[in-house]
Amino acid sequence: MVLKNIRYALKNIPKKRVTRLCPEVESPLSDRFRGLQILDKSKCIGCGICANTCPNNAIKIIKAPIAPGSGKQRWFPEIDIGHCLFCGLCIDQCPKSALSSGKEYTKGMVKWTHKDLLMTPDKLAREVDIDEGDEK
Ligand code: SF4
Ligand code: SF4
Repeated sequence: MVLKNIRYALKNIPKKRVTRLCPEVESPLSDRFRGLQILDKSKCIGCGICANTCPNNAIKIIKAPIAPGSGKQRWFPEIDIGHCLFCGLCIDQCPKSALSSGKEYTKGMVKWTHKDLLMTPDKLAREVDIDEGDEK
């Protein structure tokens, strides 16, 4: 039995690996995969429909700069990823198609404190590093 197992193991060494090292090597994702949301600030009108649609009350509409370093502010969604189901309803209901699904499912989501799970408008717009606030 032991010899049989060793022979089996040796026979499989040159073969291509079927396992994947996660999260270093991410899994292939389908087109319909719903990961961390992306906000297009130029399209968002701050209407709040996304927030009203969210079944988990994960979205708040907050005032934020229209662009990095800008003194001008407008209303944008902020998503609490800790409460998000990734159902995609906010994306479907947005009248301006300002929200979309990103493909990130580890980056930006694995956090140690609740405040770091808040995807602020600048994080949703990828104006800042979404891993910001992580313990290294
Ligand atoms: S993301 Fe869409 S639904 Fe949400 S506030 Fe902006 S325009 Fe309205
Ligand atoms: S994906 Fe669903 S749960 Fe997450 S913020 Fe949008 S509506 Fe809410």
